[in-house]
Amino acid sequence: MKKYISLRLSEKDARKIFRDDEGKRVGDDQDVRVVRMAMDDPRYGDLASFEKKWYDRGSSFAFYTGVLHEYSKEEMNAAELLQFTVAGRIFEPSGEEVGTLYDDASACPVCGSGAPQTTPLRLKLSTIPKKQDFAMSIGHEIVVSLRAVEILRKNRVTGLIYGPVYGGKTSTEPSPDWHQLIVKNADADIVAPTWIGTLPYDWDTNEYRCPRGDNAGFKALSELTVQRAGTRHPDAFQTRQFLADRRGLLRPYRPILVSQKFHRVVLEHGLKGAFFDVAHFA
Ligand SMILES: [Zn+2]
Repeated sequence: MKKYISLRLSEKDARKIFRDDEGKRVGDDQDVRVVRMAMDDPRYGDLASFEKKWYDRGSSFAFYTGVLHEYSKEEMNAAELLQFTVAGRIFEPSGEEVGTLYDDASACPVCGSGAPQTTPLRLKLSTIPKKQDFAMSIGHEIVVSLRAVEILRKNRVTGLIYGPVYGGKTSTEPSPDWHQLIVKNADADIVAPTWIGTLPYDWDTNEYRCPRGDNAGFKALSELTVQRAGTRHPDAFQTRQFLADRRGLLRPYRPILVSQKFHRVVLEHGLKGAFFDVAHFA
């Protein structure tokens, strides 16, 4: 497994660390660089110290889009557990903007995690990427195509509920094309050695972790390790803890863990829009 971070930074700052031919220049003036860097790159420490210097001044050196794990096929197929995420374009508007209700009054008063969705999902259907079988809104609502629902059901993939999706604010007929992907159980605890934080450096303080324990922090910077009661597990389940913060339309979410069976069904049927990372049982 190779581990990378992907980051965006100003061209001026990029030159402090990267060669001219590394990454990609973007933006109207080509003044932003998007780079992927291996976390065992000898220059990683330089990046960490630049970021610390900027952080101490209340600013940031780079914007991190995430930590990427790159696996061989053998590593993926040998994993005892996988984390499932939706790949591809995140669509807008979110369900909340189209009339889906959330009970924000029952969310955690400290971190805003855990507001339950209290009505069926409403979305602007035309904004969902058409060629995907799994797609996600900016509010972290996940939808699944009819084809994928049929395949997952036929293969008896357990742990999932397929909720209706209504198009627009007033329609009374659910969409025939899309369902909401709902995971039944959120009973796995994120445990050590999982690394959760905001910035991928050892000096990070994981400032978004909620003192009440319901939110583990901003994002996973390592593979997830979880603990769950019992030895029989459904093919999909979530962690008890949320990640990310409540901001505007963004809602903290619970990572989804899946079995090799789920992984295999997705690959064998070529379902589009799924992304997998290796995960572990403690
Ligand atoms: Zn909280």
